[in-house]
Amino acid sequence: MSDRSSWESRKLRYWAECSGQSRRAGLRTSHPAPAASPAQAQLESRVLEQLGTSPSLCAHPFGIASLTSATTSLTLHLDPYMGQERYSFPEHCLSRLLPSTPAPGTGDDVPGIPGLRVTGIKAGGRQLHLHLHTVSPGQAATLLLVLPRGLPEGWADIEGRHRHWCEDNGLRPLWTTPHLDPVESGYLNASPNLESLRARRAAVGSALLRRIALFPTGTAFYRVQCWDDADSWKIDARTAHPRALWHDRLLQRLCHPRWGLPVQVAHRFCHCAEPDAPYQWGHTCAFYFDSHDEDDLLYLRVHASPEGRDYDRQIETLHQVGASQDWMAQAFPRRAVQHHDQRHQAQQLR
Ligand SMILES: [Zn+2]
Repeated sequence: MSDRSSWESRKLRYWAECSGQSRRAGLRTSHPAPAASPAQAQLESRVLEQLGTSPSLCAHPFGIASLTSATTSLTLHLDPYMGQERYSFPEHCLSRLLPSTPAPGTGDDVPGIPGLRVTGIKAGGRQLHLHLHTVSPGQAATLLLVLPRGLPEGWADIEGRHRHWCEDNGLRPLWTTPHLDPVESGYLNASPNLESLRARRAAVGSALLRRIALFPTGTAFYRVQCWDDADSWKIDARTAHPRALWHDRLLQRLCHPRWGLPVQVAHRFCHCAEPDAPYQWGHTCAFYFDSHDEDDLLYLRVHASPEGRDYDRQIETLHQVGASQDWMAQAFPRRAVQHHDQRHQAQQLR
């Protein structure tokens, strides 16, 4: 293979791993995970913040099965279900993203992303187009949410249901109003001195969201959560294996010198790699990242086997939401799967 074609194929592989897309779809941009414009990065870091702490498991981290990114747009292909009860994940997504006025007596925090507006429903009801109404005009920031195939309802039904829920609970929907509501501009204009700090964190949040599929493709953590704690981004991952497998593979891809995040690992506390470490349950490996001009932009914590040996609940939920069999076989030790299957069969016979 020539250098050029091997380079192109490595780039294609990185793109497939970080976007969750099939390699057959083919990479059409020069960078596998292009950087977002500043306004787009603001939008995406808010999206990550809103979806990063989902109350229950989906088939993929944060319910994002795959994505496509460009400088001023991001397309997210969503999972259909969330949790053992198979709640609609697209509806949960709207409840986290779409802004409304706060319910009376619940403080000033705007639920959802202030300034986010629905611009239309396309592709036979499967695509929801959104844009961010920014304070400085002329900066485009767009988000496209795509429903999974086979879902019996379209975005109009889901949006209608969420609108009714808001109205029944004393919230006024803002996502189709033409101008910013005073509660939104109040939020957007608050603490302008935090702007530059916020912009740097937004760039990291957006870069992370654009590589979110590295978690299911490069690792098999059965749960990943992420939040912005005002100093840095925190990622909390859980693995069902007694030694925290895969974290180095993930770090290598996250910090890829050419296509990775603009950060590197600054401090590393790995307990599974200690040569004399006993076969231990419940340990945590931690990694602190920095960039050339700033410390502690990102922090990754990997908990190995926090639930002990019993993963029945997690396996059951992941089956319910349609996680792939191959991925499940990698994520859970064989013994955990057998334990779940035997209990499941016993319940069926009862
Ligand atoms: Zn480790």
